Amino acid sequence: MYIDGQWAKAKGTFEVLNPATGEKIADVPDGGRDDAATAIAAADRAFPAWSNLTAYQRSAYLYRAYQIMMERKEDLARTMTEEQGKPLRAARNEVQYGADFLLWYAEEAKRVYGETIPAPRADQRFIVLHQPVGVVAAVTPWNYPVSMITRKVAPALAAGCTIVLKPAEATPLCAIEIFKILAEAEIPAGVANLVTAADPKPIGEEFVSNPAVRKITFTGSTGVGKMLAQGAAEQMKRISLELGGHAPFLVFDDANPQYAAKGAALVKFLNTGQACISPNRIFVHKSIVEPFTEEFISRVTRLRGGNGMEDGISIGPLVNEAAVDKVERQVNDAVEKGAKIGCGGHRLIDDGLDKGHFFAPTVLTGVTPDMLIYREETFGPVAPIIAFDDDETAITMANDTHYGLAAYVYTQNISRAHRMFERLRFGIVGINDINPTGAAAPFGGMKESGLGREGGREGIAEYLETKLGGFSV
Ligand code: ADP
Repeated sequence: MYIDGQWAKAKGTFEVLNPATGEKIADVPDGGRDDAATAIAAADRAFPAWSNLTAYQRSAYLYRAYQIMMERKEDLARTMTEEQGKPLRAARNEVQYGADFLLWYAEEAKRVYGETIPAPRADQRFIVLHQPVGVVAAVTPWNYPVSMITRKVAPALAAGCTIVLKPAEATPLCAIEIFKILAEAEIPAGVANLVTAADPKPIGEEFVSNPAVRKITFTGSTGVGKMLAQGAAEQMKRISLELGGHAPFLVFDDANPQYAAKGAALVKFLNTGQACISPNRIFVHKSIVEPFTEEFISRVTRLRGGNGMEDGISIGPLVNEAAVDKVERQVNDAVEKGAKIGCGGHRLIDDGLDKGHFFAPTVLTGVTPDMLIYREETFGPVAPIIAFDDDETAITMANDTHYGLAAYVYTQNISRAHRMFERLRFGIVGINDINPTGAAAPFGGMKESGLGREGGREGIAEYLETKLGGFSV
């Protein structure tokens, strides 16, 4: 753990396992509630000095961290593949994406502008100031173990906040590597603190109940997000939440089915489907569902599952056995209710893969609304295809979910593209675009997919209070 500028042990340790091989790769400190309290106290002590630095000074620290992360890119990517399982190429992309947040917020730190507003009285002046909220407590997931950390730490530090981070128990090593970078960038003691723990519950309890914490930022499941939001309400702490998704992927009859199938196959199986913006329901117009499905299955059949350290692997392991069980349950349920397996549909166990948590990339056709996979987030390598007749039905089906994070649309018709962009109730819409994300762009969801945005101008606003000054002159 990294607390108040020092590397610290906890009372015990817990194991980190390689999800591709089941082997133990490290023991890390198993922090408890008292460690979280110590870290929060350190962040609280560090806050006045950090928030009083100039934006230029804070920017320089973040820029240094960015440079060190770029130098460490390969090592960090290898740690990620070993710990999280994604193919090395994808891990390198993620490190770059993670570093992008450090660079973007090093720049954005200098653009926290205030405002003057015309006041109603002649002798009155209104000035609006943005100030850091205070100590931030952050909880991050295992699926993007580097970028989900920098996406919170960079804007928090840029804004002038100090932070305590609890990373996911499956991927503490990536977090430790990031904090080594922050330490080497000589970010002052107490400004950024790391508490690793096998059991997140007591840490979460300390985060919500400790009055020094003024903001909670969380990325993870909707269930835990709701719990933290309820806890945070007690002291009216600021909160931002990036939660689950159930992204629709809509292919209209004017789209090229082969091109759309290529896009769908690329984005659906990224990170083995373990992404909150992963397409979870692929709606294809019935007039092109056949050529789409044929191309899609041919591409998916060629994806190779295995250890992400090896060349040519595009499907890494799932995070654990529970994840494999969930995927298997959704596939079996769909088949029992009449869906057909286009390819895959089973665990991968040959050539030693039984030691890890592998499931074959799977295509289901003939999926209907009564199936679990139509409602539940899958977080795995299963692509359900659903045929539709007309635009209105497609919009209704796409919006028929309590999630609202990402949606994808394939069409060559510009009016339809605009209509879909406006009518889909999702925070992020990719139009003929399978990667509508970037450090400069606001990422976040509607409905039960969360609150607030990360990245872009909006991402730093989450860490700022707005203060109005009324002056009589
Ligand atoms: P998943 O089921 O995909 O692992 P979680 O929401 O359980 O998603 O995990 C995301 C993050 O939330 C992880 O860092 C995890 O440790 C943390 N977490 C899980 N339960 C709690 C809790 N009760 N309080 C605080 N953090 C939690």
